[in-house]
Amino acid sequence: MQEIVKLLEKVRWVEFHFVDVAGYLRSVSVPAKEVGEKAFEQGLSLLDGSSVEGFAGIHESDYRLRPDPNTFAVLPWRKDTARMIADVFSVSGRFPKDPRYIADRALEYLDSQGLAAYFGPEVEFMIVDELFLDIETPTKGLGYRVSSREYIDFDEDIGFQRIKKAYHTPTPIDKAADIRYEIATVLEDYFGFQVEAHHHEVAALGQVEIDFRFGDLKTTADRVITLKYVARNIAAKYGLAVTFMPKLVAGDNGNGMHVHVSLWDKNANRNLFFDPSDEYAELSQTARYFIGGLIEHGRALAALVAPTVNSYRRLVPGYEAPVYLVWAKANRSAAIRIPFYEKGVEKARRIEFRSPDPSANPYLAFAAILAAGLDGIKKKIDPGDPIDRNVYEMTEEERRRLGIKQLPRSLDEALDELESDNEFLKPIFTKEIIEAYIEVKRAEAGELRQYPNPMEVYMYFNL
Ligand code: GLU
Ligand code: MG
Ligand code: MG
Repeated sequence: MQEIVKLLEKVRWVEFHFVDVAGYLRSVSVPAKEVGEKAFEQGLSLLDGSSVEGFAGIHESDYRLRPDPNTFAVLPWRKDTARMIADVFSVSGRFPKDPRYIADRALEYLDSQGLAAYFGPEVEFMIVDELFLDIETPTKGLGYRVSSREYIDFDEDIGFQRIKKAYHTPTPIDKAADIRYEIATVLEDYFGFQVEAHHHEVAALGQVEIDFRFGDLKTTADRVITLKYVARNIAAKYGLAVTFMPKLVAGDNGNGMHVHVSLWDKNANRNLFFDPSDEYAELSQTARYFIGGLIEHGRALAALVAPTVNSYRRLVPGYEAPVYLVWAKANRSAAIRIPFYEKGVEKARRIEFRSPDPSANPYLAFAAILAAGLDGIKKKIDPGDPIDRNVYEMTEEERRRLGIKQLPRSLDEALDELESDNEFLKPIFTKEIIEAYIEVKRAEAGELRQYPNPMEVYMYFNL
């Protein structure tokens, strides 16, 4: 603690960060000299809960933000300022609708069962020139421009001329690479990340993926919100913007956030997903039950891991995003994949859940994935056989015979599922946040339902 108070002497301002129910980052700046030891114990009164979507409660104004000293980081683009991620408190203690509280509850729950879980997300996003949202006249165009630093042509008349297969494009063809390098470097040097890889992704539109080393649920969720914040700030220095929208361009890949998970016996430090005697993928029965839980609750889970109206434009055939709730080793049409590069390596045995996208609130998404998987273990839910065939190529009849479930096709459909299937969340989630979440997301879907989108106008104008 004293160490942090010392560090605070080096900066003039501190940004307190937290996310709202939907996952939007919120920030309030305070003079560093006001942040004494007391702030770390009791928090500071900086928040009007009624102004944060989904946060409203009975004692509207009595909220406090308590910074987490472990998240202290100086901002390289504003060197007299540091940021800390904060927990939200109300008069009666931890605020039940603070997403970070749910992450803490997940850790406590794991601990009470003698377990540990590790999460590793693959965050994808796009670097674009500028966003102009002209919702008044949606017929005007697609609503955004392509980065001039990218190597694709933009033609006013024909729209985007895409160069496909931009995967692993090298410099200098990848004109946005400088930004990507800078983001990755800043994450390592200032925010304590261990970046494992970064590269141009498949979509032509300046699509980037940054992978960093796995960690516990809360640390990893903190890192996702940090990565988004850093990427936006670095891109802004170049006069560019970054978007984590799941589907920005029709006809090209969207932005996913595949989540790798493994479950460990905490005391024995043993990977519970690893079984070297399993011939298919060195995967234990526990891992199979965990997968069973992801499949069983996969449709409700979608409302938390693919939580925007836009998410469901990504979850369509043909763009490496999943549509069916099946599991397999190599099948990228499957929602659950078993990466199997390293044979016999206990710590590499994990599952990759592919439904999530980076519009998800990472605290809630990771906690929900864990809750679904643990429910599968508790109830010994059989995930069925792995399906190493392209599910898109099967007939409807074949899929029915194999009992293959499909992901929801819209946010509203996902929310219907979540409304009727949320018992599995209860060991970890508060009922307050489940209710607030559904309310916020229903409102979001309801609002967007009122807007004709450009493609609709194109299709129906002359009907
Ligand atoms: N962009 C794809 C998605 O939306 C994932 C591509 C990949 O396999 O990394 O899920
Ligand atoms: Mg990827
Ligand atoms: Mg992946």
